[in-house]
Amino acid sequence: MTDWRTQLDEKKVLIVDGAWGTELINRGITSREVPEAWNIDRPEEIYFVALAYVNSGADIILTNTFGGSPLKLAKVGLREKTVDINRLGTEISKKAASSRALVFGSIGPTGELLKPLGAASETELLKGFAEQAKALAAGGADGIVIETMMDLTEAKAALRAVKENTSLSVAVTMTFNEAGGKYATLMGVRPDHAAVELERAGADIVGANCGAGIDLMIEVARVMRRATSLPVWCKPNAGLPELVDGKTIYRESPEKMASRFGELVEAGANMIGGCCGSTPAHIRALVLERNKLVIPKP
Ligand SMILES: [Zn+2]
Repeated sequence: MTDWRTQLDEKKVLIVDGAWGTELINRGITSREVPEAWNIDRPEEIYFVALAYVNSGADIILTNTFGGSPLKLAKVGLREKTVDINRLGTEISKKAASSRALVFGSIGPTGELLKPLGAASETELLKGFAEQAKALAAGGADGIVIETMMDLTEAKAALRAVKENTSLSVAVTMTFNEAGGKYATLMGVRPDHAAVELERAGADIVGANCGAGIDLMIEVARVMRRATSLPVWCKPNAGLPELVDGKTIYRESPEKMASRFGELVEAGANMIGGCCGSTPAHIRALVLERNKLVIPKP
């Protein structure tokens, strides 16, 4: 398959997949279960989520390995399954992608705070991310995305671990929210600072995921674009989650997300998908918008 850089040149904007967590909830996963354990126990369900995103036209799909760092898996008694969970998760996405999409292995935060705020040392983080990255590469990943990061030190540790242990391209995306007209992660990292620091640390792609819907993402993309010449990756969620009749819902429809696609591209986004609450229908709508950029009108 053509690598992501060549595809980005040809297609102007690459479309990435949408949410996995909310799709797995639709497939019956409960809050008592560990989503990544389904790579072993319910691989067919994982395969169908991946396939739905391939069929919706995504150029890049991810893997069901967001919580697959050994530090995170240790909290749920699955530490010794780290290699299996990450390798199988990648193999499932690769099988669904076939020759139609690239697969980027997903690495999420460990959930640990670094010393002195928490108990984790940087060496432990590096070791854990290295183990996860090697298993994702062994499963055949075409790239890696380190996502939903709040802390720059953890994001950089993950980046370094991937760079030192694989030859894969790496996207690093953080989650920003807005307060008083300023954008920052929960740990106080600003988007422009993140872009500069992550580029300096060797990221191939920088960006943002989750957050609070498409409007916020457009602003964050603008700030990041001014700070870096790297491709910018944006996966907004479908608005903030709301609890209605005991069910979590997301209000931003595929039409709403697609209607702002042009503004997001103008703001500087090069790779666009969806986070929490987005569905294969959202991705399909984004693909149709993108195709207007590359297919000349008759
Ligand atoms: Zn999300």
